[in-house]
Amino acid sequence: MKILLVEDEEKLARFVELELKYEGYEVEKAFDGRRGLEQALSGVFDLILLDIMLPELSGTELLRRLRRVSQVPVIMLTARDGVPDKVAGLDLGADDYITKPFEIEELLARIRAALRRRETDAAATDGTVTCGVVTLDPSSRDVTVSGERVELTKREFDLLEYLMRNKNVVMSRDKLLGDVWDFDFDGGTNAVDVYVRFLRAKIDDVFNIKLIHTVRGVGYAVRDTEGAT
Ligand code: CA
Repeated sequence: MKILLVEDEEKLARFVELELKYEGYEVEKAFDGRRGLEQALSGVFDLILLDIMLPELSGTELLRRLRRVSQVPVIMLTARDGVPDKVAGLDLGADDYITKPFEIEELLARIRAALRRRETDAAATDGTVTCGVVTLDPSSRDVTVSGERVELTKREFDLLEYLMRNKNVVMSRDKLLGDVWDFDFDGGTNAVDVYVRFLRAKIDDVFNIKLIHTVRGVGYAVRDTEGAT
C-alpha cells in the first residue's frame, strides 16, 4: 500500500512518514500543494493524506482538482479551528479528516478504515461493470456495447476490465503495465498505448463513443459514455 503525504510542516511529515513506514506502508512526501497535486495525479497511490494549509496550492484546491479525475481515498489533516475547511473538504469528496494535533494510532485507524471501505466498494461491484453503454461481465468474459457483443483478446479484456473497475481514475502507463501485464514483461510502456489503440478501434471507433480518454502527460481513464443507452 502506497501513501502520499502532502504536508508542509517537515517535522510532522517526517514523523508521520516514519510511523507509516513502520506499519509497512510505502510513503512519498510532498511539501507544497502544487507538487502534491502532480504526485497525486500520477495515480500510483492507494491513499492520500492531505494537509489543508499548504504553500503554492491549498489542500482544498488540490482536492478539487484531483477529484475531477481520481477517486483515490483522501484523508485531510486539518487545524483544530478549521471547521469550514473540514466542511469544504468533505463536500469536495474527502473520505475523512483528522484534526491536528492527532494521535498516530487514530490516524492509522482512519487509514485502515478508508482503505477497507474502498475494498468493500470494489468487492460490491465484483460482478458486471458498466460504463454508460458498455457492459463487461468478468464471469463470461463478455463485453457488450448497447447490447452488441465485442470480441476482445485476453489482454484487451484484462486492460478494459481494469480501466472500467477504476472508472474515472486516471491510470498512468506504469501503473497499467504493472497491474495488467506480467511482472516479467519488458516491452515498455508503449505496449499500453498499443492496446488502448486496439480497444478504441474495436469499441470507440466502431460504436462512435468516447470510452477511453487520454489524459495528456498522465495516462488513461475510462469514463461513462454519453448518448443512447
Ligand atoms: Ca500546513
